[in-house]
Amino acid sequence: MQSPSHPCLSCGACCAHFRVALHWSETDAFDPEGTPAELTEPLDAHRVAMRGTYGGRALRCIALQGDIGVSAHCGVYAQRPSPCRELQAAWEYGEPSPQCDKARIAYGLAPLTPQQWSQQKSG
Ligand code: SF4
Ligand code: SF4
Repeated sequence: MQSPSHPCLSCGACCAHFRVALHWSETDAFDPEGTPAELTEPLDAHRVAMRGTYGGRALRCIALQGDIGVSAHCGVYAQRPSPCRELQAAWEYGEPSPQCDKARIAYGLAPLTPQQWSQQKSG
């Protein structure tokens, strides 16, 4: 679980900006500890998408809780699919993240900076 001051917990932008597609075998239809299948919809022969992230104009993952840019978290954090695990917050591990930046900018939030992480670790 993320610490209470983790920047993602006052963001959530990426959960309402990108299509989240995953192989069906990542869901609990195959893996009992997988992403709840009822939160997904068919995408193609082998893949499903998180509901709310595909096909509509106003994207927002069905599992996202809270208000974007204020207080937000994933309602299925421990069972979130691989695209969500792979998308890292910019500079959290010393690397840029164009997806994180793009999503934040789309919601009027400034991209994260390396300085924010050093302040968080020292604070
Ligand atoms: S856009 Fe970046 S900061 Fe915001 S929730 Fe996603 S990874 Fe975290
Ligand atoms: S499953 Fe969770 S982390 Fe992934 S897009 Fe939905 S709310 Fe965000």
